[in-house]
Amino acid sequence: MRRVHVVGAGLAGIAAALALSERPGVQVVLHEATARAGGRAWSFHDARLDRRIDNGNHLVLSGNAEVMAHCARIGSQAALDIAARAEIDFLDIASGARWSLRLPTGPRDLLHGGLRLPSGTMRALPGDLLRLLRADAQTTVAQALPRRGPAWTRLWEPLTLAVLNAPPERAAAAPLAEMLRRSVLRGGGASRPVTMPLGLGPTLVDPALALLRQRGVRIVQRHALTGLSTRGARVTALRFGDDEVALGPDEAAILALPPEALSKLLAAPMPAPGESILNAHFRVAPDLAARMPPLLGLVSGLSHWIFRRDDVLSVTVSAAESCLAEADLQGETPEARIWREVARAAGTDAPPLAARLIRARAATAACDPAALAARPPRLPHDNLALAGDWLAPPLPQTIEAALLSGRAAARALHPG
Ligand SMILES: Cc1cc2nc3c(=O)[nH]c(=O)nc-3n(C[C@H](O)[C@H](O)[C@H](O)COP(=O)(O)OP(=O)(O)OC[C@H]3O[C@@H](n4cnc5c(N)ncnc54)[C@H](O)[C@@H]3O)c2cc1C
Repeated sequence: MRRVHVVGAGLAGIAAALALSERPGVQVVLHEATARAGGRAWSFHDARLDRRIDNGNHLVLSGNAEVMAHCARIGSQAALDIAARAEIDFLDIASGARWSLRLPTGPRDLLHGGLRLPSGTMRALPGDLLRLLRADAQTTVAQALPRRGPAWTRLWEPLTLAVLNAPPERAAAAPLAEMLRRSVLRGGGASRPVTMPLGLGPTLVDPALALLRQRGVRIVQRHALTGLSTRGARVTALRFGDDEVALGPDEAAILALPPEALSKLLAAPMPAPGESILNAHFRVAPDLAARMPPLLGLVSGLSHWIFRRDDVLSVTVSAAESCLAEADLQGETPEARIWREVARAAGTDAPPLAARLIRARAATAACDPAALAARPPRLPHDNLALAGDWLAPPLPQTIEAALLSGRAAARALHPG
């Protein structure tokens, strides 16, 4: 291919454009509908908090090899904060019980208290793991793990919400099993939490755009794809409103778009949008922030995770529609309820100094067994490839999946 148009400058499109720009003689044009790149992973200066925040908290694990490789390619490894241990603290909001989940990073660490599990989970764990790993594509997490006990409430339910953005009764077991295979089952070394203290944009997006520009890639923003022209097995033109870009015989396109956007362009069955993720960002007094761990998991409340970045505590509520419907808010706003839970975790009566609530609508596509069966859609065009976090099954829809899918799409068009 002499020229490839990549449509969608989320992480999948960026990864595809980077991979193609490594091939000599290939011109790459990256088109993005909005005025910024990054898609669902972006950072901005919030005037109310007077801090730079991410649209939503993103956690990756040290076993996410493609995230590590992406940062190495764009020179931003130093911006990754990789925890020394595979350990996460938890709090039960209702009972006040605290525990940590820790996996040993090696035999030495195992001897020095490297394995810690929530109480009551040790006996159930091997059987549960086996059932999850053996679950077929039609099985949900709740069907794969029928026992309801401490392992369910303290491990599987929070993990499913975090990884699959869906309640375990709906979420397919296969992507959760794949995530476990690539991290937890490889031990603590592959399960260390990785955060991005500078933000998603400065770590994953901005250095990538700088490298693309340096390599001569043209990045066209506010350029939404509105249609495709096809003849036989080929896409012959891309339409961006009134602007039509013809595709010659040695030109191709990658559509790095979520299924919702793609369904308007292609007549193929697509998975439905999944649930929202709610993020509440609170600026607090620095000494209060310093009392909190960098990452705290919460159960029995509305809030699921608290991330600390400097003096901002950011809370994630995954599968927000389901979790808000289940929460008994008793007239409280979601923001007030979330703050009450943060205040309880931090042991304070003081209100936050400033707050910002962000709801990421359809944060992921549906991930129930039926939605997974429809992926990837079959396309009859030989100069068109698709990319996106939903197209790296059986991985869950994550940054890792988005980056992998982008590179795979580039390889499919130009094996290089
Ligand atoms: C709040 C939140 C929290 C998350 N937490 C985590 C986490 O903890 N860990 C993790 O790994 N992942 C997490 N994710 C998921 C992660 O952000 C996504 O998997 C990843 O960013 C998806 O990248 P993508 O390129 O596939 O899609 P997108 O980011 O959606 O990119 C698609 C791009 O295409 C553009 N576009 C759409 N239509 C058109 C059109 N017609 N023409 C041109 N351009 C178009 C969009 O504007 C967008 O820029 C989270 C997501 C959200 C929203």
